[in-house]
Amino acid sequence: MNEFEGFVVVLGCRKCGKCENICPNGALYRINGFVNVDQEKCNLCMKCINVCPNKALVYME
Ligand code: SF4
Ligand code: SF4
Repeated sequence: MNEFEGFVVVLGCRKCGKCENICPNGALYRINGFVNVDQEKCNLCMKCINVCPNKALVYME
């Protein structure tokens, strides 16, 4: 649903867990500790981008 607006991707997640409960849409999930974004649920609110201390959550146009 966001294909024309860009999307949030994960680059170099360090498994710190700081973004654990930040997503209001439940779009963030973890596999072996590494965070992934469910693009179907993400509405680009940008909350996770601001909370990641490692800048692993990145908005791409
Ligand atoms: S941008 Fe918002 S909706 Fe998308 S994954 Fe991050 S917190 Fe969730
Ligand atoms: S805050 Fe960033 S580094 Fe930490 S778990 Fe989330 S995406 Fe990974």
